[in-house]
Amino acid sequence: EELTFSGIQPTGTIHLGNYLGAIRNWVAMQDEGNCIFCVVDLHAITIPQVPEELRSHIREIAAALIACGLDPDKVILFRQSQVSAHAELWWILNSIASMGWLNRMTQFKQKAGKDQAEASVGLFAYPVLQAADVLTYKTTHVPVGEDQRQHIELARDIAMRFNTIYATEFFPLPEAVIPKDAARVMSLVSGQTKMSKSDQDDNSRINLLDDPSLISEKIARACDGLGEISGSQEDLATSPKAENLVRIYAALAQEDVGKVVEEFGGSATERFQRALADRLVAELSPISQEFQRLLSDKAHLDRILAAGADKARSIADPILDDVYDIIGMSRRS
Ligand code: ATP
Ligand code: MG
Repeated sequence: EELTFSGIQPTGTIHLGNYLGAIRNWVAMQDEGNCIFCVVDLHAITIPQVPEELRSHIREIAAALIACGLDPDKVILFRQSQVSAHAELWWILNSIASMGWLNRMTQFKQKAGKDQAEASVGLFAYPVLQAADVLTYKTTHVPVGEDQRQHIELARDIAMRFNTIYATEFFPLPEAVIPKDAARVMSLVSGQTKMSKSDQDDNSRINLLDDPSLISEKIARACDGLGEISGSQEDLATSPKAENLVRIYAALAQEDVGKVVEEFGGSATERFQRALADRLVAELSPISQEFQRLLSDKAHLDRILAAGADKARSIADPILDDVYDIIGMSRRS
């Protein structure tokens, strides 16, 4: 049976990369079958978090997901820390995954920076927790951005190794579902690194909750100095900043990049700049308004997340019970 699972960290506010790379697809998939979406707070603490900020970020992410169109009556929406099966399976899978596999993970290298010895054990084992998130529900499909492809490959390897060790076909091998366009939205500042919640520079990203004037300002700044949008896709590729903006426009307009280049290429950036800002404002303003409305009733949000956790537990617990039996333990008594 098919099951879709994905997660997002409460490490800040949702940005355009999260939206185009992941959340927009989650909304599209919610009518097609069983979907589970998770605010992965256990993942967030692999880098230091301030408790009060974490508490509000969790609610904000939940509110933003609903504002983007996820319907808690159609999907299971919950927070990772309220379903203990994730952490339990994490430990079991930690004992199956090898150090060599984890040593290859590029996200760890980026997030740990130069001084890897200072990084937490949790940051190193992060992809194993992600594998546990996915396998706890016997997930078949994982809609994520391009940056998570390597982690989903690892989850497949871990599932395969579990199945081999215990001579079973218990875990299905999860497949990454990565969008064709905007799978990797880049920083507005550099065009060279991924747009991220945890980037210190707020100008590097468009947040879903930025107001129209801030959006226009950020796009103006990003276009500053670009001269003109080149008239061919090959030339465009030589300017990562411009290419990123054109790709964002194409994803919002649901048009081919070639068509956008045809429309705006060879003319000064002002027209493109205004058109892009208009598209962004049109797409994001309704989301932002709905977000504010949802956030004004925190008790309601908490009830949605609690009900989601109940539903998630009812799927995860029997699967974990079976895992314990398979490996020679007993979870129930
Ligand atoms: P952090 O910087 O804390 O890691 P993040 O912005 O990378 O935050 P995550 O919570 O790690 O966000 O990822 C949530 C989802 O958004 C994942 O599916 C991820 O692949 C996707 N995603 C994140 N950044 C981008 C991006 N720049 N372009 C496309 N998809 C993205
Ligand atoms: Mg990330």
